[in-house]
Amino acid sequence: MRASHGGHRRHTKSATYTDGSGNQIANVGNYARYWANNANVPANGQSVSDAQMVAMLQSGFDSGALTYDASTLYAIFSAGTVNLGGGFGTQYCAYHTHGTVTINGVTQSVLYAAMPYNYAYPSGCTSGLTAPNGDPAADAEVNALAHETEETTTDMMGTAWYDRRGYENADKCAWKWGTTSTTSSGGVWNITVGSKDFLVQMNWVNLGCGGCLISLSRAGLGAGGLAEQGWIESVPHARTTAAPHRRSPAGPQARRPAQNFRVSPGFMTTSRRSFLNAARTCASVASAGKVP
Ligand SMILES: [Zn+2]
Repeated sequence: MRASHGGHRRHTKSATYTDGSGNQIANVGNYARYWANNANVPANGQSVSDAQMVAMLQSGFDSGALTYDASTLYAIFSAGTVNLGGGFGTQYCAYHTHGTVTINGVTQSVLYAAMPYNYAYPSGCTSGLTAPNGDPAADAEVNALAHETEETTTDMMGTAWYDRRGYENADKCAWKWGTTSTTSSGGVWNITVGSKDFLVQMNWVNLGCGGCLISLSRAGLGAGGLAEQGWIESVPHARTTAAPHRRSPAGPQARRPAQNFRVSPGFMTTSRRSFLNAARTCASVASAGKVP
C-alpha cells in the first residue's frame, strides 16, 4: 500500500482546474508512507470487494500503521491476478473511489485507489512497449497510478470534473503518450522524474479548447500555446480488453450530480459561464486556423 498525492511539474495541469468555489486546485502533493499489510493476503484470482479494501484501511488507521488524512489518496496494490474490485482485467485496470472510515469515533471519507497488478493483463493494462526501467510490471503500475492520482485530484468524490461522456481528466487522454523517447536499451519513455525516465499517459489540460499534454510548461499556458504544441481533441481510444478504470453504472463514479454542465466532449466544465468562456476561447483559436 502506498499513500500519496504525487507532486511534480506534471501535476501543474491540476492548476487548470478549480474547486467548487472557483479556487485553483493545489498542484502539490507528497508521498506519505508505505505499509506492507501482509494479513489475510488474497490468493490469485480472488476478488476483493470495496468493503474489504475499506476494512483494511480501517485496520491500518486503527493500528497506527496508517495516518488518516482527508486529502491523501491511499493506493492499494496487490499481486498476481488478485481481483481488486471484482472487474480487474475485464472492466478496468485500476480505479479510484472513496469509502467511509471511523477515525477517533468520527465518520470520515477516505480516498483510495485500487491498483491491481496490471502486468497480469499486459495486452489490456500495459503500454505494450518496452519498459523504460527494465521492470515492465512496475513501469505499468506507475502509469496507472498517475492516471488515478490525477483523477482523484480533480474528481475526489466522483462529483466534480468529468465530461459529458463521464470521462474524468485522465480518461480523456488514456493510453496516449505524446512524444516519446527511447533509452539505450530500447525502453520507451516520455517524462523524467528525478533521475528516472517513465512512460506515463498524458492528462487533460483544462484550458482553451483543452488538450492532452504530458506536462504543462509556461509556454503551454493559454489556448494558442496549447494549439501550437500540436494538441487536438480526439476521442480516447478504446482498449480491447479493459478500460483504465471502472465506469460501471453501479459504481461510485457513476453518480453524477446535476449541477455539472456538460456540453461538448472537448470541455470539462462545472458551470455554464465557464463553458461559454471556454467555447469562446476555443472558437477564436479555431478561427485563427490553429485548431482543427
Ligand atoms: Zn480513469
